[in-house]
Amino acid sequence: MDGLLNNQLFDVRLSLAKPIGKLMETFRQAQCGKHLKIKVAALILFSSLSLSAQNPKAFYITADRIFDGEVMHTGWAVLVENDKIVAAGPKEKINVPANAVKINYPNSTLTPGLIEGHSHLFLYPYNITDWDTQVLKETDAYRTVRATVHAKNTLMAGFTTARDLGTEGAGYSDVSLKRAINEGIVPGPRLLVAGRAIVSTGSYGPKGYDHDQEIMLGAEPADGNNLVRVVRDQIGKGADFIKIYADYRWGLQGEDQPSFMLDELKLINEVTRSSGRAMVCHAKSKEAIRRAVLAGAETIEHGDFIDVETGRLMKEHNVTFMPTLAAVDMITQYRGWKKGVAPDPANVVNKKKSFKAAMESGVAIGMGGDVGVFPHGENVLEMELMVEYGMKPIDVLKAATSVNAKAFHLENQFGFIKEGMKADLLIVTGDPSQLISDLRKVKWVMKDGVVVRNEK
Ligand SMILES: [Zn+2]
Repeated sequence: MDGLLNNQLFDVRLSLAKPIGKLMETFRQAQCGKHLKIKVAALILFSSLSLSAQNPKAFYITADRIFDGEVMHTGWAVLVENDKIVAAGPKEKINVPANAVKINYPNSTLTPGLIEGHSHLFLYPYNITDWDTQVLKETDAYRTVRATVHAKNTLMAGFTTARDLGTEGAGYSDVSLKRAINEGIVPGPRLLVAGRAIVSTGSYGPKGYDHDQEIMLGAEPADGNNLVRVVRDQIGKGADFIKIYADYRWGLQGEDQPSFMLDELKLINEVTRSSGRAMVCHAKSKEAIRRAVLAGAETIEHGDFIDVETGRLMKEHNVTFMPTLAAVDMITQYRGWKKGVAPDPANVVNKKKSFKAAMESGVAIGMGGDVGVFPHGENVLEMELMVEYGMKPIDVLKAATSVNAKAFHLENQFGFIKEGMKADLLIVTGDPSQLISDLRKVKWVMKDGVVVRNEK
C-alpha cells in the first residue's frame, strides 16, 4: 500500500490539470474569434462533467452489518459525497446517485474510522530498543522518520484519528508530523498532539545517570508559578492539549506517588482552559487521580489503582478513563512473563481488578492502549484485552468510536456514522461485535472521503 494516498492525490491533480490545460488552450484560440465563445462554454460544461465521471466523489457502501458508533444495524447503507456522510440508514430510504462507486465486501462490518485514544507515534516497542535509548540516543530526525511509518501503519489498521500523548524527548516533532499528514505529504491518522508534556522537577526519567551531566528528559519539567509560562509555551508551539504526569514511580519503594500538588494542577488547568484546550493526566495512584479530577482533568491515563469510589468521582466530574491495558500486558511480557503459561503477575492481576472496578463505577471508558510500547498498527490489541478483562465487544467498539469522540470533543465530526459526519470509515471481514479480533481483518479504509486502503 506504499504511497497510495499520495498517488491518489497525484491522480486527482493530473486529471484536473489535463482538462484545465485543454480549456486554456481553447480559450486562447477563442480570443481569435467571437464565434468560439460558445465552444468554450460547452467545453467548460463538458470538462466539469467528465471530471466528475473520472473522479467520482460519491460512494454507496453496503455491508452485512453497520455499526453507527452506538448500535449495530443490518440492512443499512451509507452514502458518502466528497468528504461527508450524506445519508446513513435502511437501504430502501437511500437514493443512489448514478455515478456512485458501490462498495460491498462479503461478510463485512462497516464502522466509523477508529479513534486511538493514547498513542506515542515517536516510540516503538521497548523490547527492540529500550525507552532510555530512544529518548537519549536517537535524534529527532531519526525518530520522525520512524514516526511517519508508525502513522501509516496506524491508518492502515483503520485508525483514522489518534490522540498522541507526548513525543518523549522528540520536542514538537509531533506538531510537524501532524502538519505533514494534514497536507497529504505522508499518510496517517488525523492527530491531536501533546508536544513535550509536563512533569514535576525530579520525578521523571531517564534516571540513574551521573548528576554532573544534564540529561534530557522524556517531558518538560516545570513547577509552581513556572507552570503558567510552560503551559503557554507548549500551547504556543502547537500542543492541542496539555498532558501532565500527575504521578510517577518516584516513591521511596519506587511506587507511584503524586508529583504535583492540587493547587499546581488547578493552575495548569486554568491556564490550559482559558486557551480553549483540555488538561489530561497520566495518573495511576488513587491520590493523583483524585487531585487530577478535582483540578479539572478531562481524561485519566492508565488509572492502575482505580477503585469503585475513585471511578465514581471521575464519573461525577465527567472524566473519561483511558485504561492502557496493552502497555501493562506487553511490558510485563518483555520482562519475561510467559502469558498463558505462567500465572498472572501481581501488576496484571491489579490491572484486571482496577478495570473491573472502573466498569462497576460507571465511569466512561475510552480506548487508549499506549501504543508505541507495542507496535503501531497493532492498536486492536488494547480492544482485545478490554474484552479479555470483561467488557462486552459492543462496548469496546463504542469506546474506540463514540466514547473517544466525545472525550476529545470531536463528536460532531467523527466517531459516528450518521448524516453530516466526516467520511472516516472502516470495513472489516466478520463481526467484531461478536469477535473483537475481527477488527484485524481490515478490507477498506476511508479518511476524509479518500480511500486509503482497498483490499481485494
Ligand atoms: Zn503514554
